[in-house]
Amino acid sequence: VDLPIHEAVLGSAADFGDAPALIDGTDGTTLTYEQVDRFHRRLAAAFAETGVRKGDVLALHSPNTIAFPTAFYAATRAGASVTTVHPLATPEEFAKQLKDSSARWIVTVSPLLDSARRAAGLAGGIQEIFVCDSAPGHRSLIDLLATTAPEPDIAIDPVEDVAALPYSSGTTGTPKGVMLTHRQIATNLAQLDLAVTAEPGERILAVLPFFHIYGLTALMNAPLRKGATVVVLPRFELETFLAAIQNHRITGLYVAPPIVLALAKHPLVEQYDLSSLRYIISAAAPLDARLAAACSRRLGLPPVGQAYGMTELSPGTHVVPLDAMHEAPPGTVGKLIAGTEMRIVSLDDPGKDLGPGESGEILIRGPQVMKGYLGRPDATAAMIDDDGWLHTGDVGHVDEDGWLFVVDRVKELIKYKGFQVAPAELEALLLTHPGIADAAVIGEYDDDGTEIPHAFVVRQPTAPDLTETDVLMHVAERVAPYKRVRKVTFIDAVPRAASGKILRRQLREGTV
Ligand code: ATP
Ligand code: MG
Repeated sequence: VDLPIHEAVLGSAADFGDAPALIDGTDGTTLTYEQVDRFHRRLAAAFAETGVRKGDVLALHSPNTIAFPTAFYAATRAGASVTTVHPLATPEEFAKQLKDSSARWIVTVSPLLDSARRAAGLAGGIQEIFVCDSAPGHRSLIDLLATTAPEPDIAIDPVEDVAALPYSSGTTGTPKGVMLTHRQIATNLAQLDLAVTAEPGERILAVLPFFHIYGLTALMNAPLRKGATVVVLPRFELETFLAAIQNHRITGLYVAPPIVLALAKHPLVEQYDLSSLRYIISAAAPLDARLAAACSRRLGLPPVGQAYGMTELSPGTHVVPLDAMHEAPPGTVGKLIAGTEMRIVSLDDPGKDLGPGESGEILIRGPQVMKGYLGRPDATAAMIDDDGWLHTGDVGHVDEDGWLFVVDRVKELIKYKGFQVAPAELEALLLTHPGIADAAVIGEYDDDGTEIPHAFVVRQPTAPDLTETDVLMHVAERVAPYKRVRKVTFIDAVPRAASGKILRRQLREGTV
């Protein structure tokens, strides 16, 4: 799809007119489609008037708000690339991203202004810090809307120009800037839309962060492109989340596994009317089939569907189509979307393609494969081979019907005496214990130099007496001997990224 992202998403906004585009889930403030369309054009004019030029990088540093999309599309309309920043990033982390991306502009919100100022000071090169709301000494987006400057006429090349510069989650290393062109993002939206289309009248709850590519696509670009309504929450907090589903009659949820876990297990869920929900899709981290089933059974919904992708893939390649939720086999992350190719190759012999049922590394080729990592040609070359195949670093297999199952990341697999053990499988099994609220597993070397699975377990409040032996036995009774958990540590909470991914590094470093 050769359109700039703001055209691809807001091309029909004028037609949707007075329909609500965005609703603040905490105070009910609403933006209509007509407003989002008009505001983002005005703001683009103001950005251009201020000096934002084609190719500039603008850092968008905000939790989810109803202003976020307007700021985003205004920036791209003015020709900028938007690098989204984790709202909880420390000034040092933020400065690193500003420097790495050579950002010139920042859009933030008043509660985060201190952090943004400090980051700008550390990084240098920032022309101006705007705030979405208002703060003394800074121009707000609301002030900027008053401009009478003409709308900028910027020629955007959807094939070459970078629309978004998200940083990968940094789960396995340092976050890298991922260059995604207008075409890559717009095309992926169209590809995904064939399987999981949103409709006018639908209400999507944006509880996962817009700054992460999953939220940006599933909760912002995709529903706004189709005239659906996005109800916005700044963070995941169970009661507010449940109340928002009930009060706004939410129809569709895109979540990550920890939210599925809460929906399946938390006692509070019973106290809310969640009957407006029609589907739930989970992505970003492994979701166990039993947990998914427990969630859908409890809520009386079709099976929880999954999607799979990564920042480097704009981000999607697989999803369970909405009309195939019932027929999809439990545990699958979905089918390959249109216009995308996949190979599964042997981990021991990377040239060898594997057939159904055999697990290997997932390789992807298609129009959504990133342009590259910003300023890291070596890292790009290590990820995308000469034939255009992106090596995901994930292990998976397909069944005879083409449903994909993701086992885990290659790097996380534990090699116990020559056997491969996937932490995700053990975590899923641990969660089936009624006394376990949450769990994470890492590989660790014991005194003999053998890599063993070490489980970090959070006890349910109802099971304060759960012991290491209970945990070890629960696993030992259900898996082949080589897969047994060998060591247990009880912790208060599993460290996770905003996207729901387990931060195994923190467990490894003992900082939990
Ligand atoms: P970094 O690359 O910086 O270490 P990251 O890989 O966590 O961080 P993302 O691009 O946000 O950054 O995440 C993509 C990864 O998330 C995939 O490679 C895969 O491991 C995991 N993932 C995404 N969806 C699923 C899913 N449905 N099931 C299992 N894993 C998933
Ligand atoms: Mg990654």
